[in-house]
Formats: sequence, C-alpha cells, structure tokens
Amino acid sequence: MSEYRIETLAIHGGQAPDPTTGAVMPPIYQTSTFAQTDVGVGKGFVYSRVDNPTRAALERNLALLEGGAHALAFASGMAAIDAAMRLLRQGDHLIVCDDVYGRAFSLIQSLVVRAGVEVSFVDLTRLDDVKAAFRSSTKMIWVETPTNPQLKIADLAALAEMCRAHGAWMGVDNTFATPCLQNPLALGAALVVHSTTKYLGGHSDVIGGAVVTNDAALHDELRFLQKTAGAVPGPHDCWLVLRGTKTLPLRMERHCANAMRLAEWLSGHKAIARTIYPGLGDHPQHELARRQMRGFGGMISIVMRGGHDAARRLVKRTKLFTLAVSLGGVESLIEVPAGMTHALKADSDLAVDPALVRLSVGIEHVDDLKEDLNDAMLGL
Ligand SMILES: *Cc1c(COP(=O)(O)O)cnc(C)c1O
Repeated sequence: MSEYRIETLAIHGGQAPDPTTGAVMPPIYQTSTFAQTDVGVGKGFVYSRVDNPTRAALERNLALLEGGAHALAFASGMAAIDAAMRLLRQGDHLIVCDDVYGRAFSLIQSLVVRAGVEVSFVDLTRLDDVKAAFRSSTKMIWVETPTNPQLKIADLAALAEMCRAHGAWMGVDNTFATPCLQNPLALGAALVVHSTTKYLGGHSDVIGGAVVTNDAALHDELRFLQKTAGAVPGPHDCWLVLRGTKTLPLRMERHCANAMRLAEWLSGHKAIARTIYPGLGDHPQHELARRQMRGFGGMISIVMRGGHDAARRLVKRTKLFTLAVSLGGVESLIEVPAGMTHALKADSDLAVDPALVRLSVGIEHVDDLKEDLNDAMLGL
C-alpha cells in the first residue's frame, strides 16, 4: 500500500470494503466488547479500550499518511502529547520549542516537571542555542514547525542530526503542516504527533489525536500507555477523522493557495505592521520552508499597527472569519492569541504580542475572505 501517493493513501490507506457486508466505508463498530469463541480465544478484538476495528482502520490510515510503521489514536491531541511525554523518566532532560502549543506548555510546566524531568525552552530556529542546550541527560527534543502563532520554521533534518549525535529522540508535533506538507519521520524524527482535531479531521466536528512512529520499541511503550491509561477515542470520533483524511490533500491545496493569496495582500495593507507567513519572501526562514515543506500551510499571523485594541476590533468585525480558537477546519477562523489560546503564557517571557491576530484560512472563495478582512479593517 505504501507505494501509493498521498492522495491515494488518504482514501484507500488501511481501508478495504468490510468483509462481512461489503460496506465501502469502515463501519462504526459502536461496541465496548467482542464475543469470544472460547476462553481467551476470539476474532482478534476483545474490548474497545484495548482495540476497536474502526480505530484500527484510522490507525492504519494515519500510519500510511505519515509514512510510519505504526500509529496510535488518542482521545485528543493533548492525550497524544501526554503519552509521548510519559516516555521520559525522572532525571531526563527535555528541550522544547519556545512557542510550543499553549496547553502543551502548561502540561510540560506542570505534569512533566512534576515527574522530575528537567526542561529547557529554546528557540529552535537558532541551532547554536539548541546545540548549547543539549546535556548528557537530554532524552528528547520537542518540535513544532511551523510554530504557533509565530510560524517559525525549524530545520528538522539539522535537529534530527543533533539528536542522533546525543542519542535523543526528536518528537514533532506535525499538526500545522500535516503529512501533506512535510514528513518528519523521513527527516529523522522518532515520533510524530497530531491533533487530528485540526486539518486531519478538517471539519471542526471532532477532538482527536495520534502518535506515529517507525520505532517498534517506542510503539510498544506507547501502545501500553494507550490501552492502560486509556485516553482512547470512541469509534464514532475515529470514523469522523477517517472521513476527514480522505479529502486532506485536496483541502490542503486550497488552504495553502488561499493563505498565500491573502498573505501577499495583507502584507501591503496599511493597518498591518507585519504579516507573518512562511510563503512570503521576507519570512526569516522562507528558504528553509521552501526546502522542507511542499506548501506553506493555511495559518497566517498579522500584527496590527493599532495594537491590541485594533486586534480586538478586527476579530469582532469579521463576518466570514469566526472569532474562535482552534484551526484547520474548512471554515476560516480568527483569534487574538495573547487573550485566548496563549493567555496561559501571558505572565511569562514567552508571552505573545497582544497586537498579533492569528488567522486559520479556510477553503472558502479567497475573494470573499479578502473582502471580509478588508471591510473589517476599515478605519483601523
Ligand atoms: C490543537 C493543538 C494541540 C492539542 O490538540 P487537542 O486535540 O486540542 O487536544 C496540540 N498541538 C497543536 C499544534 C495544536 O494546534
């Protein structure tokens, strides 16, 4: 199956017509338990926390999309990140990208630190700083690229090389890029996590997460965590994500095209001090993004000249861009990270500029999106 291209894998990967009925879509096996034919003997499934056929279909699909040998589905992106963090032991050292996802930041600051893990937050675009942050106890480096909401791009191959030299794992949260735009496992990552809530699900109707790896030992440990800690998604949620991934390559093309058009237009707008988008020539890691990614994604950040007040007025005025957290759905969303997704960092030196507005560009007609933003920015 893995010989097929991603557009084909998205639709057929890990899925075949149901052997009992011929159903073309994997059925929603809404059952907690499975009849056994003898003591300890059954048809492969026992209990849905441990394994479920709809979840198994999703896991096969996600593994193929990321080019990994194994995927595990979790109840949320955070549950997936939590499982990855539990690979660390007391005394281990963890290097984390400085603008890591807000809730991952608080997970690391509280639970991971409480488990006795030492943590350094580093700007991963500065490879010398990363090199200096490594210790003999460094066990993992946690990467997001593009980051949220600064959209910084980290050099995955260079970071993987450093990890290899230190015997550390590279974990990559690939939620923003999706497997359509970059494949961290092929660049040396030990594991990749996703919030399937975002682009993979793609319709803002489900919460889910996943971990993908090629490492059999890591997979075994994560599999143990999945069935033992039990943060598993239900079969209906798995089915929704599976339905979403079928159109992922098609949707990503439009997200990227719309975002590129909007970013070019926004960067010339007088109400905006700075437009941040990896596809723009003035993005600090534009060349790296061109090399590492097959598209620049659907996320744009803009910094308003009028500060936080202008940012707040803008997000209340847009009609097509809905004021909401989250991202990656077919519909466009807008938010002010400093007061919403990144409020947790407000009192730290990782605080986000209150004038920054984050756009999740949907797949509506780009001219309608442009007019919506243009109208909302009148007089700002
Ligand atoms: C949303 C998100 C998460 C968390 O995922 P949930 O499904 O909300 O638990 C983690 N990382 C990134 C980059 C995200 O955007």
